[in-house]
Amino acid sequence: MSNYTHILVGVDLSDEANHVIQRANALAAASKAKLSIVHVVEPLTFAYGGDIPVDLTEIQDQLQTKAVEQLRSMAKANNISSENQHVVTGQPVSEIHALADELNVDLVIVGSHGRKGLALLLGSTANGVLHGAKCDVLAVRVKD
Ligand code: AMP
Repeated sequence: MSNYTHILVGVDLSDEANHVIQRANALAAASKAKLSIVHVVEPLTFAYGGDIPVDLTEIQDQLQTKAVEQLRSMAKANNISSENQHVVTGQPVSEIHALADELNVDLVIVGSHGRKGLALLLGSTANGVLHGAKCDVLAVRVKD
């Protein structure tokens, strides 16, 4: 069986994200694979419907800037160079799929909380990434 050549890890910038990146880093090193990381900034929905137009562009830009900084610091701590760091805007599942295709990765790594009950029925990012991915997907268990 051939080794993975390019791994993409989805990073939600939470406290657990470092654990997921470390696992991905170890696997990438063992496989001599390139490692890319992505954080998806979700678009702000309009807080007010109807007649009151609210321009959220500035806040969205601030969120984007903050996300770039946070991802950069996590990447730096894990020796991931800037050209392999991606911050995109959209829905996490579809953006992770799109970037995985664009970068032609052969493995996507995400964290999984191992949800139960209603949360399981509602689904999770890990579930969404698994369903519809064109390559292998590894779910790294993170603590609840
Ligand atoms: P969740 O289902 O939201 O608990 O997320 C599970 C995993 O999906 C996280 O550990 C990340 O690997 C990935 N993920 C969730 N949200 C994002 C995001 N906004 N950008 C990139 N990856 C994400």
